[in-house]
Amino acid sequence: MIRKSILSLLSACLWAAGPSFAAGPDFDGKLRDAVASPSLPAMAPTPTGAMLTLFTIDGMRQVRMPAPKLGVLSAQNVTAFTDPVTNLTYTFDDDVPADIQKQMRDDLAFIGGLKGNGASGLHKEIFGQVDGPTYARFFETRVTAIGMSECGGGNAVACVMPFFNSSKMWLTQNFIKFSHPQIARLMIVFHESRHTEDANGNWSHARCPKPFLGKDGQEIKSIWTGAALAGEPACDKTPLGSYGSSMIMLKNVQKFCASCTEKVRMDAGLYADDQFKRIIDAKARQEMLKDLY
Ligand SMILES: [Zn+2]
Repeated sequence: MIRKSILSLLSACLWAAGPSFAAGPDFDGKLRDAVASPSLPAMAPTPTGAMLTLFTIDGMRQVRMPAPKLGVLSAQNVTAFTDPVTNLTYTFDDDVPADIQKQMRDDLAFIGGLKGNGASGLHKEIFGQVDGPTYARFFETRVTAIGMSECGGGNAVACVMPFFNSSKMWLTQNFIKFSHPQIARLMIVFHESRHTEDANGNWSHARCPKPFLGKDGQEIKSIWTGAALAGEPACDKTPLGSYGSSMIMLKNVQKFCASCTEKVRMDAGLYADDQFKRIIDAKARQEMLKDLY
């Protein structure tokens, strides 16, 4: 509750300098404490913007964003879109380009139309059955607003900033330039949607080991950017976090999607197998192996 009240204060003064409420370097469950630090920032506006924790597909990043690029404080006009599958409504800020809005709606229409013929135990626990409307509802009950951001730059496609707004997802220009398949893009936005869950500490990530080597002895790198992951906060210790849940979703699409093409199911399996490498806890890995392989 403390966190909520601090958050509403922060919402009112996001331009304030932020190092004192930025998350600490320990990424294993300490973020909430760091955010609930009693030392509140001064309310005076600053041109340098705020420190924010971004969750992208390659982990958590602390960024000081130039205030104008943040695009989150100024009162924006929004366009509401009601998903015909779920009847749930989400909004796009008016600065989200039309082609990016269309891509997002198309992706949600694709996943919302999916038909399955089974589900693994972990999938049932997190999502329910492999079923389009179930996926669309999962997403749209967590993400109700979509805006544009650079998401810290680099090759980021989407991000959330749960300590600023827990029900908003930010897309970047890369959302339509992305060279990975549609099911992989959906993996990213479902990964992000899991981070909106305040009640679960936003499923903060764990640091990948250093060195971080695969069974073949080779260094494990990001499938999204090719960057080395050793020592980065880009792994999970639970099957239920962002990496685990989106991996479980795609592995189930591979195994149980009745309406998908062979190509979609193959891609789903490929990206699921890749993200499984980011689960670093032996017990969690065992549980997922038993459930999915
Ligand atoms: Zn994440």
